[in-house]
Amino acid sequence: MKKRAFPKTKKLIVANWKMNPESFKEAKKIFDLLRKKKFNANKIVTVICPPYLFENELAKSYRSNKIKFGFQDVHFENDEKSTGEISTEMAKNSKVEYVLVGHSERRQIGETNEVISKKIKKCLDEKITPILCIGEDERHENGDYLNLIKEQIIESLSDIPKTRVHDVVIAYEPVWAVGKGKNSMDSHELHQMTIFIKKILVSLYGKKIAMELPILYGGSVDADNALELIKQGQVDGLLVGRSSLNSHVFGDILKNLS
Ligand code: PEP
Repeated sequence: MKKRAFPKTKKLIVANWKMNPESFKEAKKIFDLLRKKKFNANKIVTVICPPYLFENELAKSYRSNKIKFGFQDVHFENDEKSTGEISTEMAKNSKVEYVLVGHSERRQIGETNEVISKKIKKCLDEKITPILCIGEDERHENGDYLNLIKEQIIESLSDIPKTRVHDVVIAYEPVWAVGKGKNSMDSHELHQMTIFIKKILVSLYGKKIAMELPILYGGSVDADNALELIKQGQVDGLLVGRSSLNSHVFGDILKNLS
């Protein structure tokens, strides 16, 4: 099997800054504070996904390998007629190693599994690791949400053969746990979900490959719940929104996991 994008012995912690902060000055301040934080880079791969506008400038002046960069989205084609879009080639040339694909906030504005599948393929073509975001909006009592998760995985990976899937990362983000005023998922329930997701991956790619694919959790992660979510939830890392904009909180998350 080909070498994976990051070793299973490490945890992958991804910061999604979304459409924040408002200025480059502020972005630099958050980043500079974070890079001074002490954490064990032998145990953690840290990826910051700022807005495109700031990523290039932050990456240009940053020389250490302790923090990697990602984009929050990318276009599924390299087509000069795509006004306002960013291509995977541009990502590659901006030192980007990871891209969030199919975040719930993009699915909410109409992004389909079909488009997501194309984006994953494009990322892999450029040797960028796609982080495929999946997750249900709500928990139906009859368990329908499980079918939705299954459909998201199968359709989003429909074009990705066994030989290429080892570079894909899955981020499970139940939408009801993401954002302001929400609570993170219970870590035992998370463990059940990781088992469910692994079962689907086994049915698609076989046990050996499926068990190697990293699964992250996202949704109201903070310095107090990060370790428990990873340990009890049996995930390979975290996707962090709001808490990643506070360098002290994000630094504590990294320190607690070290
Ligand atoms: C996210 O937007 O991916 C996310 C996990 O947000 P938060 O941590 O703020 O819930």
